[in-house]
Amino acid sequence: MSTNDPVVSLSSVDVHFETEGSLNPFEDTETVRAVDNVDLDIYENDIVAIVGESGSGKTTLGKTAVGLQKPTGGSVTYRGQDIWEAQKRFSDSSISFPDIRRSLQIIHQDPGSSLNPHKTVLSSLEQPLKKWEDELGPEDREARVLAMLTRVGMSPPQDYAHRYPHQLSGGEMQRVALIRALLMNPDLILADEAVSALDVSLRVEMMDLMLELQDSFDTSFLFISHDLSNARYLAEHSNGRLGVMYLGELVEIGPAEEVLSNPQHPYTKVLKWATPSLEIEDATEPPVRDVDIPDPVNPPSGCRFHTRCPNATEYCRSNTPAGLMAENAGDGEHHRTACHRVDEDSDYWESDTLPGASFDR
Ligand code: SF4
Repeated sequence: MSTNDPVVSLSSVDVHFETEGSLNPFEDTETVRAVDNVDLDIYENDIVAIVGESGSGKTTLGKTAVGLQKPTGGSVTYRGQDIWEAQKRFSDSSISFPDIRRSLQIIHQDPGSSLNPHKTVLSSLEQPLKKWEDELGPEDREARVLAMLTRVGMSPPQDYAHRYPHQLSGGEMQRVALIRALLMNPDLILADEAVSALDVSLRVEMMDLMLELQDSFDTSFLFISHDLSNARYLAEHSNGRLGVMYLGELVEIGPAEEVLSNPQHPYTKVLKWATPSLEIEDATEPPVRDVDIPDPVNPPSGCRFHTRCPNATEYCRSNTPAGLMAENAGDGEHHRTACHRVDEDSDYWESDTLPGASFDR
């Protein structure tokens, strides 16, 4: 397999949940289409930041990419091995499920939830080494943990090694969670809102640390955030990609710099408008017709953004964009958008605009 093959590949992935039934047993359950028909490849040493409002499906997509959520449609592969086939066949697959789980790690928004409150930092960090590097003796394990604590700026390491989680600040806990993930020698780390709870200066420090370690540990990051400025920082400082989700669909993806300087999807323009640090000209009116996010149980017909889109036409109301498309083959090939406006020959251009919308480019 060439090194250009993806480490993790999501193909036509759906994650649909049935809502809890009400007390009335005759009432139908409803389906939430948390993730709908998403394709995404993540490569070695890659950084992909996914942004979207709450309820856009970005966390579900992230968990699906690292094998913590089983898709209800499509497939997720790790180095060409279907993750859920590997689980079914356990060790009888080209890559075993435990090896896949070890290679795909997660750091949560609340690092405290992944650390045992009754264990010291040293004891928590030794666990993955005991499990995956059983040739190491206690002294080597401790030396490895102390070196990692120093590496992430927790010095003197002997002091931090014997602390309990409640004796650490939020930023320190997040660093310990990052070390724990890295000690598994993963290929991909899902950072799910991993810096959202930190104050701004710590946030930047933590993102810089992730980028530095990503480089030296040869790992990839899938970074999930509701905040476009965090995603921008991480993706721009790494030449990474930025993806935008709306109501379960990936509506735009491309090199971060290009997506931010030249957003193609009207929803990406809304996110950009809503991020004051991104210095938008003429930022007085939100570029949406309706501020309310539709119910994901019953998403709008056609393009799901048509109820809010400032450029929506009748055509958008009944026609779903044909997946992610590039505006110009060649240069724009890696910057793709799910919107009829990308296609110059689309019937969109001949259709009447919806009330309050216009054709503005
Ligand atoms: Fe707006 Fe139509 Fe594009 Fe959807 S397809 S984002 S409604 S212009």
